[in-house]
Amino acid sequence: MDWKGIRGEVLQNVSMKRYTSMKVGGNVKYMIYPVDNEDLIDIVARLNTQEIKYRFLGNGTNIIVNDGILDEAIIRITKIKMLRKKEENGLYKVKVSGGTSLKHLIRYCAEHGLSGLERLYWIPGTVGGGLKMNASSFGATISDCLEYVELLKNNYGVKEVQKNEMFFGYRTSSIGKCDCVVSAQFVLKKRDKKEILKDMEYVFNERKKRHPMEYPSSGSIFKSVNNEPAWKFIEKANLKGLRIGGACISEKHGNFIVNMGDARARDIKALIEKIKKEVFELFGVELVEEVELWGFEEERESI
Ligand SMILES: Cc1cc2nc3c(=O)[nH]c(=O)nc-3n(C[C@H](O)[C@H](O)[C@H](O)COP(=O)(O)OP(=O)(O)OC[C@H]3O[C@@H](n4cnc5c(N)ncnc54)[C@H](O)[C@@H]3O)c2cc1C
Repeated sequence: MDWKGIRGEVLQNVSMKRYTSMKVGGNVKYMIYPVDNEDLIDIVARLNTQEIKYRFLGNGTNIIVNDGILDEAIIRITKIKMLRKKEENGLYKVKVSGGTSLKHLIRYCAEHGLSGLERLYWIPGTVGGGLKMNASSFGATISDCLEYVELLKNNYGVKEVQKNEMFFGYRTSSIGKCDCVVSAQFVLKKRDKKEILKDMEYVFNERKKRHPMEYPSSGSIFKSVNNEPAWKFIEKANLKGLRIGGACISEKHGNFIVNMGDARARDIKALIEKIKKEVFELFGVELVEEVELWGFEEERESI
């Protein structure tokens, strides 16, 4: 592959362990960091021409990558920086690059007394990953205060797409596998900075209490079932603490699988299958993954 003319960084044979919060996964062929939108468009066009599969990675906090080789390119726009605010007809708007971390965005909003996203504090992902998954916590959902995104679709360039032209559901959205959220604009409300910070502190403390933050994980593995959190079924099935290889169902939160230090992706996948089987046999409930599994058999079959 000829990368001449690309201004960003192109890394080769990169271990996905370094780029995912679960800290497992084999090597990916290319990891590319565009420097700006023009560079990004150029990179995507070249990959399309060469018929190299590609997708986008934020902070890797909602994915589990398989142990083998991932024969594709992964694009990260985390080095494209942009975060600005404006007031328009009495509305407060913040526009941000899709690669910005949610924590950074929320701290920026708090500093400027802008409210709407604070209950998503400490979700470890980026704005792009958050919108794709329609991340939510403590009753707030990222798409609630979204106005529009700038979306790159294949070779069609970057287009502004209004929220009402998109679909957002429970941990899902109409953002496709090869679409890139280049930027997003949110509409926020003015609120006392102290009140926003108080909410952020509450959220952080609750997360510390409930989540096994001391180990690598991908957050919740399964989606809720008819509003019943998946951890209830896992705990009722007495599965907390179950270990396969270096992967363990957290004692603190049944819907978290943690990496005890030397887990491989196949250990985590085996635990996922074990949980699904036990919960189905005991309660007739089919758990569905909230995390994305990259490079596993099912994914290859669905392409
Ligand atoms: C400890 C912990 C706690 C968590 N708590 C929560 C929680 O409370 N609520 C919640 O909803 N989630 C939670 N998560 C899951 C995760 O953080 C969110 O889903 C987050 O939004 C994923 O963002 P990311 O940047 O890490 O995405 P990634 O994991 O990198 O990617 C996820 C998906 O988004 C796509 N993507 C990434 N960037 C872009 C982009 N710029 N454009 C288009 N697509 C893109 C990827 O291709 C992939 O399909 C938690 C995870 C951990 C580890």
